Amino acid sequence: MSSQAKTRVGVLGAGQLALMLAQAARGLEVELLCAGQPGDCAEQAATVLPVDLADARAVADFAAQVDVVTLESENIDAAVLEGLNLAPNARAVGIAQDRLLEKRFFAGCGLEVAPFAPVDSLPELEHALAELGTPAILKTRRMGYDGKGQARLYAPADAAAAWRETGGVPCILEGMVQFEREVSLIAARGRTGETMFYPLIENVHRDGILRVSRAPYDAPALQLAAERHMRAILEALEYVGVLTVEFFVREGALVANEMAPRVHNSGHWTIEGAATSQFENHLRAVLGMPLGSTESRPSVMLNCIGRMPPEAETRPYRLARHDYGKAARPGRKVGHLTFDATEREAIETWRQRLADE
Ligand code: AMP
Repeated sequence: MSSQAKTRVGVLGAGQLALMLAQAARGLEVELLCAGQPGDCAEQAATVLPVDLADARAVADFAAQVDVVTLESENIDAAVLEGLNLAPNARAVGIAQDRLLEKRFFAGCGLEVAPFAPVDSLPELEHALAELGTPAILKTRRMGYDGKGQARLYAPADAAAAWRETGGVPCILEGMVQFEREVSLIAARGRTGETMFYPLIENVHRDGILRVSRAPYDAPALQLAAERHMRAILEALEYVGVLTVEFFVREGALVANEMAPRVHNSGHWTIEGAATSQFENHLRAVLGMPLGSTESRPSVMLNCIGRMPPEAETRPYRLARHDYGKAARPGRKVGHLTFDATEREAIETWRQRLADE
C-alpha cells in the first residue's frame, strides 16, 4: 500500500451497524470495506464485498485487503477469526458469543449474574430445573440475538417443550431475575488502555427486541459500579474497541446479563447525543487514535421495528431519522429515531405509534 493510501478498516458484516460505522468513518479519513452480501444496507455508505462469513479462506482473503479487521456481529465462528488482525480480539469475541463462557467470565470478574447451569440434554434440563426452580429461561449458548433461541419455563412440565423449542443444541438455563429495569453501559478502550465511558442507558425490550433507550439512566452509584465492572472486563480481555455490557437492576444493584463486543443498538443515540458517537470511538480505538469525548446530552432512541414510518409523518417533529434502507419485515430492525430528551411530546407520540408495530 502506498504511503498516501488511506488506512483501510474491514468490517465483518454489512448490516446497519456497519452502515453507521461507515458514516462515522467519513469524518476520520479512513476507508471502510465491509464483508457481506450484495444488497446489504451498508452499501449506502461503504464498499461491500461478497464474502461468506462462514468460510475461513474467504474471510482471510478479505482481511488481506485491509489494515485492521473489526466486526458488527459476534456470531462468527472462532476458527474463521483465528489469525486475523482483529480488534476486539478473538478471545473477547469467543467469550461473548457463548452464553456459558460469558456467564463464567462475568462471575470470574466479580460481577453478579443470574443463577445458571449448562444444559446439553433433556435430562440435564430437568435436573437443572429442579435445582434452579421456575420461572427460568432456557437459552441456546450460541447464535442468540433479539430474543431468538430462548424459551421460558414456568413449571417443570415445560421442560420438553422448551428443549424442543431451542432445537436440542447446547444451552444454558438461567433463573429468572426479577429486575426493576434493564440498563447498558457502553465503553471504548484504545490501544494504549485509555478508557472512556458513556452514561448508563435505560433500555426497554419487548419480545426480546430493544424498543426504547433513554440516556442517561441517572443513578450515580450504579454508574460508578458499572464502570468498575466494565474496567475489570476490559482489562481481563485486553480489549480494544467499543464494548457493551447489559445489566439488570435488581434491588438497586447490578446483575450482568450479557455483553456485545461491538457497537450496540442501545448506543445509537450517541450519533446526535454525544460529542463523539460510539461508532467514531470504536473506529478511533481500532485505529489506535486518541478517543473522543463521551460528553452527552439527555437523549431518547426509539427503534423502528418491522417497517419505517413514512418520511412525511416524521418530518414535522424535531427528531433525527435513521432509515437503514431495509425491506419491511415483521420483527426486523429497519431504522431508529433519536430525540433530545426535552422533546417529551414528540417522544411520547412516537413511542406509542411505534409500539403498535
Ligand atoms: P438476552 O438475549 O439475554 O438479552 O435476553 C433478552 C431479554 O430477555 C432480556 O433483555 C430480558 O428482558 C429477558 N431476560 C433474559 N435473561 C433473563 C433472566 N435471566 N431473567 C429475567 N429476564 C431475562
